[in-house]
Amino acid sequence: MENHIKKQCLLCKKSEQEAPLLQLDYKGMNYWICPQHLPVLIHEPSKLEGMLPGASGLKAG
Ligand SMILES: [Zn+2]
Repeated sequence: MENHIKKQCLLCKKSEQEAPLLQLDYKGMNYWICPQHLPVLIHEPSKLEGMLPGASGLKAG
């Protein structure tokens, strides 16, 4: 099994060619998010439900 998903922002699907991507290590998987959407992860992680498994259980920072 591949242990990673496509290298693109979780939300806007930008590739590393279009925006600098920040790598997330989460539950043994690798994800990426662009700086524009990093605040969503920090403040509204429930919005990532469906993109990040278990994100609804994350607490907003
Ligand atoms: Zn993005």
